[in-house]
Amino acid sequence: MTSASDISAGRLAAGAYDEAFCDLHASLDQHEARVAAERCLFCYDAPCVNACPTGIDIPLFIRQIATGNVQGAGKTILDSNIFGGMCARVCPTETLCEEACVRNDAEGKPVIIGELQRHATDAVMASGRQLYRQGPRTGKRVAVVGAGPAGLSCAHRLATLGYDVVVFDGRPKPGGLNEHGIASYKAPNNFAQAEVEWMLDVGGIDLRCGQMLGRDFTLADLRRDFDAVFLARVWPITRHGRGHRPSIAGALVRVLACYAGAGM
Ligand code: SF4
Repeated sequence: MTSASDISAGRLAAGAYDEAFCDLHASLDQHEARVAAERCLFCYDAPCVNACPTGIDIPLFIRQIATGNVQGAGKTILDSNIFGGMCARVCPTETLCEEACVRNDAEGKPVIIGELQRHATDAVMASGRQLYRQGPRTGKRVAVVGAGPAGLSCAHRLATLGYDVVVFDGRPKPGGLNEHGIASYKAPNNFAQAEVEWMLDVGGIDLRCGQMLGRDFTLADLRRDFDAVFLARVWPITRHGRGHRPSIAGALVRVLACYAGAGM
């Protein structure tokens, strides 16, 4: 078994960490992005969109970059996927949108969709502008359990629709997979937290960390205090079977889709 002293002996010098774990590739600059965007053929019924799990209008945002409307490109992305910045860093684009890109057929290499997405979403965050605000208040309150990508995406969309949302998470920091499950060198400079902070700036979202379902509150509590509940937590699974989960039998839990028109 490896001892603590063995690990200590293999550590990098303090100053080497910044170099070893910094961003592997810097974001495209404006000229690089426009050159890359010009390679897009703006396909009708674009295969890259069909391959994107979040359905981003890829030809549109690439066209917006090509014409100098980088903020508009960022909004096109974020309208479909509010975590577009993190996805631009960690999404396996080479097996999704970029694998489907028709440029592969003629030239053997796709439009660099992931890097263009990062260029656009980074520009939005760097601008300090907030693209979204809480919509006209509905007077309804929704509880979201889990402050990971699913829970926060749901909360953000509900806030823009005018709901007041309380997000509970058992961990001390929000972000879920993005904060706790992704190697830090893939999203350096505390990007996961910066993205969450930008997202929460929409207003109408009350984030309560350190509050765990089954330990600090129950489904019955949520049913009593809220108009609807969205369960977005990960249920622990062990090789001995599924971990403890609170019974939802008999509980009136309305699971909301995070898209407009959720029936409330
Ligand atoms: S498949 Fe490639 S060329 Fe066609 S719209 Fe998508 S990114 Fe552009």
